[in-house]
Amino acid sequence: MHISEEQLEEFKRIYKKEYGEELSDDEAYDAAYRVAGFAKLAFDFYVEDKIRKQKLRKDPKGFSLEGDGVYTCPICGRSTPANEMWYDKYGQKCIICQKAIDRKIIPGKVCKNTDSWYSTWEFDSYFKMKTPTVNKLVRQNILRARIIPDINCSIFLIKDNIDILPPKKLLESRSVQVAENTYSSQRWYKFQDPKEVLKDYKILEYINISKLLSDN
Ligand SMILES: [Zn+2]
Repeated sequence: MHISEEQLEEFKRIYKKEYGEELSDDEAYDAAYRVAGFAKLAFDFYVEDKIRKQKLRKDPKGFSLEGDGVYTCPICGRSTPANEMWYDKYGQKCIICQKAIDRKIIPGKVCKNTDSWYSTWEFDSYFKMKTPTVNKLVRQNILRARIIPDINCSIFLIKDNIDILPPKKLLESRSVQVAENTYSSQRWYKFQDPKEVLKDYKILEYINISKLLSDN
């Protein structure tokens, strides 16, 4: 990606106008290069998305992806080659998860709306709850799982687990400044009382609070 003298001067001018600070050539080049990189990425993504949507008009049922890329399925999380990924109105996912959608085992909208469900590993990330405990709660009928056949992957829809699992927006991390120009992400239980946040949700009874609070 080439950035010309004129573009660099223009970038410095805009930066000065916006932030009141003069950048050196090196600083301006470095910043402009990064901005251009992000812009190219966003543009490539936009073009790819546009092409796929056009193709979808011709093939409303969807199509498998082309190319030799490897994708992460947003539902089961497996790395999947392009030709085993399926794209339709719900977005892209692997063909095994697609089959589970076709068979109405899981709703198609879980593909894009990842806030409407929890994956097994998210119990660890949000509650420090390991998979054997999650599986035990399923066996005890406390948690209701939807199981994707063939890969034995469980997902937990919030609507299936009302009063048990909280909406994810209650568990959002926040960004805290740890040094000048340095920010770090702080987990929800580090700045809120877990018992208070989860008081209306049964999952609280099964979380090891002291383990959660001692997590670094
Ligand atoms: Zn999948």
